Amino acid sequence: MVVQVANSIYETQTTEIAKHLLDATRQKRSFFAQMRDHIRWDDKLLAWAMSNPGLRVQLFRFIDALPALGSKTEVARHLQEYLGDESVELPAALKNLLNFANPDSMPGQLAASTVSTAVETLANKYIAGATIKQAIKTIERLRKDKMAFTLDLLGEAVITEAEAQSYLERYLDLMEQLTQEAKNWSTVSEIDQADGEELSRVQVSVKLTAFYSQFDPLDPEGSKKQVCDRIRILLRRAKELGAAVHFDMEQYVYKDMTLGILKELLMEDEFRDRTDLGITLQAYLQDSKRDLKDIITWAKERGNPLTVRLVKGAYWDQETIKSLQNHWQQPVYNQKSATDANFEEMTQLLLENHQYLYAAIGSHNVRSQAKAIAIAEQLNIPRRNFEMQVLYGMGDQLAKALVQRGHRVRVYAPYGELLPGMAYLIRRLLENTANSSFLRQSLEERPVEELIAPPVVDEEPVGAGFTDNVIAKTDNLTKPAPSPIPHPQFPNAPDTDYAQAEAREKAQNALETVRQQLGKTYYPFINGDYQPTTETVDSVNPANPSEIIGKVGLLSIEQAETALNAAKAAFPGWRRTPVKQRADILRQAAKLMEGRREELSAWICLEVGKALREADAEVSEAIDFCRYYGDEMERLEGGYIYDVAGETNRYVYQPRGIAVVISPWNFPLAIATGMTVAALVAGNCTLLKPAETSSVIAAKLAEILVAAGIPQGVFQYVPGKGSQVGAYMVKHPDTHLIAFTGSQEVGCRIYADAAIVQPGQTHLKRVIAEMGGKNAIIVDESADLDQAVAGVVKSAFGYSGQKCSACSRVIVLDPIHDTVVERLIEATRSLNIGAAELASTQVGPVIDDTARNRIQDYIEKGRQEAEIAVECEVPETGYFVSPTIFTNVSPDAKIAQEEIFGPVVAVIRVKDFQDALAVANGTKYALTGGLYSRTPSHIDQASTEFEVGNLYINRTITGAIVSRQPFGGFKLSGVGSKAGGPDYLLQFLEPRTITENIQRQGFAPIEGVD
Ligand SMILES: Cc1cc2nc3c(=O)[nH]c(=O)nc-3n(C[C@H](O)[C@H](O)[C@H](O)COP(=O)(O)OP(=O)(O)OC[C@H]3O[C@@H](n4cnc5c(N)ncnc54)[C@H](O)[C@@H]3O)c2cc1C
Repeated sequence: MVVQVANSIYETQTTEIAKHLLDATRQKRSFFAQMRDHIRWDDKLLAWAMSNPGLRVQLFRFIDALPALGSKTEVARHLQEYLGDESVELPAALKNLLNFANPDSMPGQLAASTVSTAVETLANKYIAGATIKQAIKTIERLRKDKMAFTLDLLGEAVITEAEAQSYLERYLDLMEQLTQEAKNWSTVSEIDQADGEELSRVQVSVKLTAFYSQFDPLDPEGSKKQVCDRIRILLRRAKELGAAVHFDMEQYVYKDMTLGILKELLMEDEFRDRTDLGITLQAYLQDSKRDLKDIITWAKERGNPLTVRLVKGAYWDQETIKSLQNHWQQPVYNQKSATDANFEEMTQLLLENHQYLYAAIGSHNVRSQAKAIAIAEQLNIPRRNFEMQVLYGMGDQLAKALVQRGHRVRVYAPYGELLPGMAYLIRRLLENTANSSFLRQSLEERPVEELIAPPVVDEEPVGAGFTDNVIAKTDNLTKPAPSPIPHPQFPNAPDTDYAQAEAREKAQNALETVRQQLGKTYYPFINGDYQPTTETVDSVNPANPSEIIGKVGLLSIEQAETALNAAKAAFPGWRRTPVKQRADILRQAAKLMEGRREELSAWICLEVGKALREADAEVSEAIDFCRYYGDEMERLEGGYIYDVAGETNRYVYQPRGIAVVISPWNFPLAIATGMTVAALVAGNCTLLKPAETSSVIAAKLAEILVAAGIPQGVFQYVPGKGSQVGAYMVKHPDTHLIAFTGSQEVGCRIYADAAIVQPGQTHLKRVIAEMGGKNAIIVDESADLDQAVAGVVKSAFGYSGQKCSACSRVIVLDPIHDTVVERLIEATRSLNIGAAELASTQVGPVIDDTARNRIQDYIEKGRQEAEIAVECEVPETGYFVSPTIFTNVSPDAKIAQEEIFGPVVAVIRVKDFQDALAVANGTKYALTGGLYSRTPSHIDQASTEFEVGNLYINRTITGAIVSRQPFGGFKLSGVGSKAGGPDYLLQFLEPRTITENIQRQGFAPIEGVD
């Protein structure tokens, strides 16, 4: 079905204006200009990128890395690595340029200079200068052309409070210098005055997220407070100086919060009468029209207009990828024409409300601008209330044509160094070269009628029509192309999107409900009944140990024996239960967990001190395990058929028998669920012994499995002391299999105990043990440091470092070592430390007193071995340990070799990448590892030589997702196949081969023959 956008009363005029504008923007350039363009490398690069999608991806990736490359040789090497990729078809001129054997050679240096200069020229097209001085020159040129400006300070991602403070200070300074300079500018009435009103000559554009390093939709109140404290200072100073301030709009996750904060702030008495402020709305968002209506209502109440800058939106690719990865609904429209149509509708709505809101129409699309002009002219909108905006370097001709038509045009001019400006430059390059972009289509000289036709929206399913950008970015072109076994995509349970107010409210309500249920007693569940125990232990909130989460009945040895007997009795029935029925019980459990998601997260948060977002991700993982292993068992059920004529050969699986699951406290729900349901669905009768400190959550899992229909004796919940009852069950002759996750020390003991054949035992036991890690992240010179520093902080201090995947060593190459360390220290200092249930918390408590003391002992050792770079204050109540960074750590130091399982990081300086890999591999563990690099050969080398079970490149190293990133390591990190992967269930099964001779007296049916 095709939805035709209504042919509005403005259409005829829109078409006329658009034709006129297009004509003006397409005026023939002089012969000399064309000649010059023909030989300019920057133009050539863009032209090639447009004609070759493979080259476009690799070229933009190279450009992204370029400012980080320290020498011409490095530039030449990266040029070859990126553009020499087999997938890239090079135009002859580029092939010639790159035809050098050695990056050190003269031709290599020439190629480096040529391309670097071309990229610099490209950057200068879109960036108004590297310094304020240069930016002022640009502004003065714009003013000569009768164009107003808004200045944006390009900056690296704000990940530390020092950076947030510096952002504010740099803007204060910028406004000061600009307004000082503005005094020398002669009046340009077209832009400095409107309807008898003097307009601010100086306008700056700012981003809300840059005012607070921990800006987070999960914590709207905390973020608001911090951001507003700084913005108030900015707005007060702007008023004193007579500068206008405009707020940009960033990614969708921040949108509601940004609007909420601004609506509240700009209603404050002090700011309520200000009309020189503005906010931005993005028409590519499906809920943007609703937001505009809200803003109109709000503006009416406010009583003083401010500006709404209407744009289509700059993060389409990012938003699409993010929603695909998280299985969230796509917030942006999926068709370019839908964005265009919405832009036009919003333009009309905005202009129809011009007495409440001033309109700034930000677009380089002639049709979009023409429609706005047509409406503005018909509605006779006063000059003050309407202006057109373009980005610097994106719509020069259009801007000139608009000025000539008598409109006020404002140019959005970013300025600053190229390195922090790279994200901006790449966005512009993508936009300019995307197939769907108006600018590109116009450059291709598409027919006028096509370019200015009203947008037509096809109705099509969500997910269709992704642009060339997304497709190109998602298939990894830097890798050689082996042919992996295709695996159907598993539909993971989506995590909660805390940008939604409703989700935050549900989480808060669940915390309150769970609080009312604290202190109950949880007894073992044996043979279908809860059995009282003589001993109980308190499980407490590690952030507030006086708060008892629950009392847990400790299983006695006699009860363990009863449970094992019950399991033995239930086994024959359970092994005969059809696989589908077993899998359906898991699916039902997943459904029950989904229904209790917020409640389960709240229990995790309170019992083990895991912050809300991570607790929520853990519930998703538990759900995924149930569904994934259910599917996997159904896949394996059929076994394999190796028949030949006259003989059938069947390869089938049977369960092992009795499984003892010993689960840890750090993923109290996900790991307990994963190991338990894997054992169950494979047909084993299973006893779950959770860690003492997380037995309440395990009791919730037991409730869920029972409610899902697990038969009596098949699953039993057996909390107890690991060293007594745990060891008893491990050694028991009736136990067939032990699935364990925890420390290397306990894991190795279980491995040894299980190897001893006990009297009466007629089988060998299988042990699956996932143990520790001493995980390293390597940061090389080409890394994106915004990404690397934020990734290290999250990987190291998320859940206070108490994940086996957590980063505890950061290996940094010498040339960037000091920069990385400096930012790492500041980023760590900027973290909020507190109780896990608080929305502002990034670092919660550690699990208990013993853990705290052990970690503190390591910190003391560290003081003797290395230099302590960060220690933060922590709350007095609760088991808190400060996030701690040691620098100048020797690779052999204890803190660089032993697993600490807490928020302690050792930074190790190395001379080059080979050294980095050697240090990374120099421990007894091989669990997870990370690499931040934009050097393809380093990525390739790490892929084969970095000895870890899970290698993460240019992202955090924690948070493996079922099926997408099967998890587990080797060396002393564990024995067994990866959890959440295609080999995992095999460990819970015994394979058998059944061969039958089906010939009778020389006769057997032969397939295909009658
Ligand atoms: C003065 C000014 C300030 C700006 N400030 C901001 C800001 O604060 N925040 C921000 O996000 N952007 C901002 N932008 C950037 C702006 O969003 C992009 O430059 C703009 O979207 C390009 O649109 P266009 O109308 O010029 O071009 P067009 O070519 O007509 O439109 C391109 C746009 O369409 C959208 N699109 C592309 N493919 C699809 C698809 N398959 N389905 C749906 N939509 C699609 C994308 O948003 C893309 O950017 C600003 C732009 C200007 C001019």
